[in-house]
Amino acid sequence: MSPPLDLSTTYEFDDTEEFAEASKSKYGDGYVYSRWANPTVDALEAAVADLEGAEGAEAFSSGMAAIAGTFLALCEAGDRIVAVRQLYGGTYSLLSEMLPRYGIETTFVDVADPSAVSGVLDGAKLLYCETIGNPRVQVADLPAMAEVAKSAGIPLVVDNTFATPILARPIEHGASIVVHSATKYIGGHHDLLGGIVCTSKEWLEQIRHLTLELGPTLSPFNAWLGLRGMTTLALRVERICANARAVAEALEANPEVNAIHYPALDGDPSKHLADRLLGGRGGGVLGFDVAGGRERAAAFQGHLQLVERAASLGGIRSLIVHAASVTHTQLSSEELEAAGISEGFCRLAVGLEDPEDVVDDLERALKLSA
Ligand code: PLP
Repeated sequence: MSPPLDLSTTYEFDDTEEFAEASKSKYGDGYVYSRWANPTVDALEAAVADLEGAEGAEAFSSGMAAIAGTFLALCEAGDRIVAVRQLYGGTYSLLSEMLPRYGIETTFVDVADPSAVSGVLDGAKLLYCETIGNPRVQVADLPAMAEVAKSAGIPLVVDNTFATPILARPIEHGASIVVHSATKYIGGHHDLLGGIVCTSKEWLEQIRHLTLELGPTLSPFNAWLGLRGMTTLALRVERICANARAVAEALEANPEVNAIHYPALDGDPSKHLADRLLGGRGGGVLGFDVAGGRERAAAFQGHLQLVERAASLGGIRSLIVHAASVTHTQLSSEELEAAGISEGFCRLAVGLEDPEDVVDDLERALKLSA
């Protein structure tokens, strides 16, 4: 019942002719060398592609490798990307600092204003956004984004890490390419690092062509862990969403919390999009501003006992980060403000614990840090 784990990096052939034939096409069906293809990695790719409604998928050694691989496969020196600025900090710095070194520039736009996006798409190579942005959890209007990208004749590339295909399948809303950090919900147990790109055969060929040469391949063991994670993805995501909603409601009522950001809460600016695109669910991550700013936020996090001070999200345990000092250090104060991240902003990724225990821990730490 457990899928086989094929750790082999290389495959033997009975005769030289067969070997030569199989090696002709690195993109063929057979197995020659594991950087080209591996049965366990193929199985994970097929499972995620199926769930996203894509023709195929290519797995990578990390989410960043998947994102960078996609950008590099689609763009060359002199090209321009249009991306929303409400992004994971690593993606933001890839676009704003790293890619310009290779002649690829990015124009940043506001996720809340898809109509303004169309004005800057002329001559761009692709449009990029996250279904639920990290860390302020703004939901992107995927159909509107897809519409403007289609009018400009360019692909919409969506990072669906926070939503997972359980909450949204961006290809159904018109996206051409979906990327994931499999490290998060797909893995789900804080023990695998991986990424995956789901798309059409045509785009996949372009992406594979680049990545076979660059080599950011997912290891078979991590693919096997990803397959195990996939079997409980729907259950975990539904439960985590319910837990996150309970925690968000408790924090909303707490006077020590200045603002709470969670797309499924009444009054949240993304609520209408969560209703329309995420089936009313808000995902597993919420953001909140602790009254008292940076120092109070740090003191509060120091008093937590159940919720762990740790990077990442999407796993079984509840993890908290102080965005300004951990995940979004690449952003200047002005950039933080533009991305809607205050000095006291905490990103909480809710796990599978009893939500009452999580709420008790948060409330106790808020009291102790007052
Ligand atoms: N995309 C999002 C939305 C993320 O939150 C992250 C990591 O936190 C990444 C991509 C990068 O993934 P990885 O850490 O697997 O490289």
